[in-house]
Amino acid sequence: VKKAQRPPAPRAGRVFLVGAGPGDPELMTLKAVRVLQSADVVLHDALVNPEILRWAPPGARIVAVGKRGGCRSTPQKFILRLLVAEARKGHVVVRLKGGDPFVFGRGGEERQYLHAAGIEVAVVNGITAGIAGPTGLGVPLTDRGHAQGVIFVTGHGKDGGEPSWVSLARTGLTLLIYMGVARAPAIRAGLLDGGMPADMPVAVVQNATLPSARAIRSSLGDFPEAIAAAGLGSPAIIVIGRVVDLAMALPQAVSATAADRRIRRN
Ligand code: SAH
Repeated sequence: VKKAQRPPAPRAGRVFLVGAGPGDPELMTLKAVRVLQSADVVLHDALVNPEILRWAPPGARIVAVGKRGGCRSTPQKFILRLLVAEARKGHVVVRLKGGDPFVFGRGGEERQYLHAAGIEVAVVNGITAGIAGPTGLGVPLTDRGHAQGVIFVTGHGKDGGEPSWVSLARTGLTLLIYMGVARAPAIRAGLLDGGMPADMPVAVVQNATLPSARAIRSSLGDFPEAIAAAGLGSPAIIVIGRVVDLAMALPQAVSATAADRRIRRN
């Protein structure tokens, strides 16, 4: 007598929140690559280097959900619903984010929503832009002669809220400012009010770790004008602190990225 065949249990879908790193595809983790190779669906932000998507299997559905070139970004609600719908189909869903998913990346909100919907979520770290940016400039972030610590801070918060620049100035710690370019004059005013000296060194790097990387070195008193004069824009990291004095000559540091790529191609 043949045993009655049971229908196979439905495959449980799951979502991975994966950090794609700052831009250079070689700065992804092995775990991020492995997870991406198992994806049925990939939802990626605009900041994710398209070269990274080649790790996804050929049949995977790739959905771009970020803002690019002035287009409107996909509403967050749509992203959340799509993550849930795809996971419920039994798919392995990869939510690929620039840098690290939990550093100014809304990873926490997405994890919470998926968790409430009963969907299994795992998070894979990425190298955040605040770490990769200074390194590309030759700035050793916590050099013990120059800084006792660093603060990751956003130039603006949810609903236009903003960090207390006056209080941050008083910590004496190095500031790594994400999303700060448009707020540069207000950041300068607040830090000067908090007593930070106008000659405090500042570095700004746009497109860190990419061949298109550009950077300037300036000071607290002058950096908003220096950003404008150089035509730097988003995405950029602003580094404020004495440790910037240890940067390699910035033009050299940036062209090192290009030299690096030439070596890699050969
Ligand atoms: N989760 C990301 C941050 C997302 S918020 C991370 O961990 O890096 C977006 C901001 O990140 C940008 O406005 C910019 O301040 C910074 N950023 C991301 N990629 C960058 C890059 N390649 N170069 C400079 N800044 C970058």
